Amino acid sequence: MRWRIRKCPECGRYTLKEVCPVCGAETKVAHPPKFSPEDPYGEYRRRLKKEILGIGVKK
Ligand SMILES: [Zn+2]
Repeated sequence: MRWRIRKCPECGRYTLKEVCPVCGAETKVAHPPKFSPEDPYGEYRRRLKKEILGIGVKK
């Protein structure tokens, strides 16, 4: 599954939404669009996923 993790440039909140749930600013894609087969960002993305799930964002 391909994640489209986004980050608020204002408060630094990670979210999957295009608008920050905290301050309402427009968010940016937080990770690079390309991935190597080794997936060096796997750990990074897992941490983001935990953080996102931790704040209770539901689909
Ligand atoms: Zn924000």
